[in-house]
Amino acid sequence: MHVLQEVLFIIVLLVAVGLFARKIREISRNIRLGKDEPLKGDKARRWKNLFFYALGQKKLFRYPVVGILHFFIYVGFIIINLEILEIVLDGILGTHRLFAPLLGGLYPILINAFEVLAVLVLVSCVIFLIRRNVLRVKRLNTSDLKGWPREDANIILVTEIVLMTLFLTLNACDTLLQQRGYGHYATYLTGNFWISSHIQSLLGGLSSPILEGLERGCWWLHIIGVLAFLNYLPYSKHFHIILGFPNTFYAPLDPPGEMENMPAVQQEVKYVFQPELAPAGATPPSRFGAKDIFDLSRHQLLMAYSCTECGRCSAACPANQTGKKLSPRKIMMDTRDRMEEVGAIIKAKGSFEDDGRTLLHNYITPEELRACTTCNACVQECPVSISPLSIILELRRALVMEESNAPAEWNAMFSNIENNFAPWKFSPEDRGRWAEGV
Ligand code: SF4
Ligand code: SF4
Repeated sequence: MHVLQEVLFIIVLLVAVGLFARKIREISRNIRLGKDEPLKGDKARRWKNLFFYALGQKKLFRYPVVGILHFFIYVGFIIINLEILEIVLDGILGTHRLFAPLLGGLYPILINAFEVLAVLVLVSCVIFLIRRNVLRVKRLNTSDLKGWPREDANIILVTEIVLMTLFLTLNACDTLLQQRGYGHYATYLTGNFWISSHIQSLLGGLSSPILEGLERGCWWLHIIGVLAFLNYLPYSKHFHIILGFPNTFYAPLDPPGEMENMPAVQQEVKYVFQPELAPAGATPPSRFGAKDIFDLSRHQLLMAYSCTECGRCSAACPANQTGKKLSPRKIMMDTRDRMEEVGAIIKAKGSFEDDGRTLLHNYITPEELRACTTCNACVQECPVSISPLSIILELRRALVMEESNAPAEWNAMFSNIENNFAPWKFSPEDRGRWAEGV
């Protein structure tokens, strides 16, 4: 490879990796805006969850066809990236197909496997595009996905198709040039590959210099496409490719139906009834529940960045399915958007300055929060172990306990519980009257 190409490649690589690292730092800072909570439970169970739910994609296989297609894209994405290692090393060292002489007979076997995967990825992406845009699967075409989120999914699918096509064309040009004994291509022989050999008949009429130009063009476009894809990921729902793993690991291990107690409330009640227990100078908690992202836990913020926007949660949500305003997918998307908004302020001003906006009200309305039945269907359905319910509960707690913002019927029930220790408006002294004369 010409030395100028080598220098250019190294510059492109450094810029791409540098930009990616900068965005990752920003996202990590945004997640750390949340409250740091101790990790509870057995680590071995966490690793097991990571293995089955993130690596093994267990929940996706509940819908076998979609599960298998998604698995092809996922495995293809991971394994074909091994081939990127050769491209990157070739780019830096100025070599061409560095691994061919090193791996000998194993090399064509690997490339053949990559080509088969490339075709499977290609076919899966085309089917997913058809599902989204032609068959218009309902959960992928609801109003909470309007605009950018819908484009985002299409952009990624089309990019994958382009990358796989470039990979196959590159191989076809390369092997044709080897067969013709052209230039440095003649110094190694990989033999024909299973899939790209079928493209050769389309390219066979081209002259060798044009084929070389096409091979170089595909090589550059492929690696620039991969680096662009890398930098696009953190802005896209496809960031779940990376964050799905830590998110599954950190997911709570408690039974999903077990509602988490609020120690701050328990403590306040305890101090009211037994003031002597309150330590000197004890101050009440700054807030009950969550009004903004700062009140949520780091794991809840990580969940928002890990959401794939697949909509399985909303499709299973009884509130959403009966026409209420609530969409658990939107809860996660709103949380992420608010984090990005806060992150942009920190980036511009060096630290967060109150912008008069909060996750509660400016993004998520009381109407949405009140529609939740706490049934846990969204948690059960989520393929990457996200709990929209945990965020809904925290916001609803702030709504009720901080703002006393609840429908009149709820307020009547709250005051009955406070005064009568039961939801009904009967005095506790009368509780046993039903048994009179029995
Ligand atoms: S817990 Fe709430 S948001 Fe989740 S599915 Fe049930 S009603 Fe919908
Ligand atoms: S929360 Fe889970 S189920 Fe809902 S859209 Fe996100 S990834 Fe899909």
